[in-house]
Amino acid sequence: MTKEEVRRYLEFYQDLGVKTLYKRQPLVTIHQPPSTSHLPPIVLSLGPDHDNLAKISEDIGDCKRCRLHEGRNKIVFGSGNEQAKLVFVGEGPGADEDEQGLPFVGRAGQLLTQMIEGTAQKEGIPIKREDVYICNVVKCRPPENRTPQPDEMEICGEFLYRQLQTIHPKAICALGSIAVKALLGTKEGVMKLRGKWLKWRDIPLIVTYHPSYLLRQYNQNAKKEAWEDLKRVLHYVYD
Ligand code: URA
Repeated sequence: MTKEEVRRYLEFYQDLGVKTLYKRQPLVTIHQPPSTSHLPPIVLSLGPDHDNLAKISEDIGDCKRCRLHEGRNKIVFGSGNEQAKLVFVGEGPGADEDEQGLPFVGRAGQLLTQMIEGTAQKEGIPIKREDVYICNVVKCRPPENRTPQPDEMEICGEFLYRQLQTIHPKAICALGSIAVKALLGTKEGVMKLRGKWLKWRDIPLIVTYHPSYLLRQYNQNAKKEAWEDLKRVLHYVYD
């Protein structure tokens, strides 16, 4: 956005009575005053006009914005359909992803593929993994697969938001608590948040367990719940 566009945006919000805006705050949906409540909420743009995935990837470039670049082999930008109606957001690349430059290609990725395609097939929804879009909060592998740190999530989050805004799917499925935290800024975990519809800006969002969590033997009940979550989001998007 140019300076002039930013000024016009801010004046517009000021006229609406909005006094504070937060930079890089994910929840920036501004609701209209009651007299105009028939209008959709205004959503601030997070990227340049005519943004697209190629441009976002180009802007990431040979990124050295945070410490995660030091140990990475490949940036894992995301993969799938640019016009996807459904986007899955994970946490960050693991060893296999770092090697191939593609998200969810290791054990957790195989489970995710199976969950998407298996549930879709069972429910009579003709989609494959390549029909959705899959990406992560951070694009570089954290050392020893540790949890991404808040500053890493914030820096990389800018690109995640642009990806989501550009694709503008009908729904988002957040995989695990780190994805939810990055998107909604909430401290609550998956157990509390799953099973209900939430929103990232103007896009409906559902939360489910991260596939890595489901790979652990003792999480049989969580597996059942994850299938339920997936069924719900697939029907919402594709029915
Ligand atoms: N776990 C994630 O969160 N993302 C991947 O891409 C792989 C494993």
